[in-house]
Amino acid sequence: MTTDAVSIKEDKSQTIHIYGPVPSRRLGFSLGIDIIPFKTCSLNCIYCQLGPTTKKTIHRKEYLSSSEILSQIKKKLSSGQRIDYITFSGSGEPTLNKTLGKLIREIRKITSIPVAVLTNSTLLSQKSTRNALMDADLVVPSLDAATQEIFVKVNRPHSSLKLEEIIEGLRKFRQEFKGSIWLEIMLVKGVNDSPSHIRKLKEAIAKIKPDKVQLNTVIRPPAEEFARPLSLRELEKINKVFGKNCEIIAEFSREAQKSTAENLEGAILSLIQRRPVTLADISNSLGKHKNEIIKYLNFLLVEGKIKSVIHKGLKYFEPK
Ligand code: SF4
Repeated sequence: MTTDAVSIKEDKSQTIHIYGPVPSRRLGFSLGIDIIPFKTCSLNCIYCQLGPTTKKTIHRKEYLSSSEILSQIKKKLSSGQRIDYITFSGSGEPTLNKTLGKLIREIRKITSIPVAVLTNSTLLSQKSTRNALMDADLVVPSLDAATQEIFVKVNRPHSSLKLEEIIEGLRKFRQEFKGSIWLEIMLVKGVNDSPSHIRKLKEAIAKIKPDKVQLNTVIRPPAEEFARPLSLRELEKINKVFGKNCEIIAEFSREAQKSTAENLEGAILSLIQRRPVTLADISNSLGKHKNEIIKYLNFLLVEGKIKSVIHKGLKYFEPK
């Protein structure tokens, strides 16, 4: 259980760029594409389910081999599994990868499955980032704050990022992009859920004009213990304020996941029953992406089958 052993394993897991298809309430069976090294991001959100950001940057570059990623996608597409969306999300902010636009265009050449991109919106103030997303079918940008002060509290951004410029980038993107935009807002109790801040968010939404607004809260284990969820009732009140294009997407039950590979959950549980393991240990042992593992860990935590403990700064999972 040394730190070194864990970090070596973390590097090895970077070779897995594709995960799923994982069932998602919003996107059906979604094939996840991860084009960023683990926790490379322009933000360090207090609610991040992947833990603290290890490389905070706004520098766009290739990061990982696009030909390797494309060959993994082709292999997966030929497996015949049901895939409703090909989704760029993963271990950090996907728009930091400079080849994102090229990857989307290449995917378009080989399949008609729609392409979605989940982004934290921070780089949309740059024309080149907006252009990279033009060939996607769906973009799900997030916006958790309407003032710089709350932005700093909830998203802990790279020092150069200004919320005003991000909102303006989102507004321009709406004008230029022909596909759908579903704006996601992650609400954290006592941080960005005050009535006055919700009113300001409503004003920002009116400028951006997304097709939908989707409300989420801290359901999965967050980077910081103090990041607490809102109740369904509290979300419903805010949903009403935002009006008819708004919906709650927080998964308070595992209904959407009922049909998924119970074998994977069983395999995770049996690993945990043998010895305390980290997320990276499980990901490497089972050859599955961390994001896929996190989903099942969360269910096991909520159902009280396992617990998490911190040991020498690392989070371990063990039987309850
Ligand atoms: S939640 Fe997304 S945007 Fe925020 S730190 Fe994690 S990966 Fe980055």
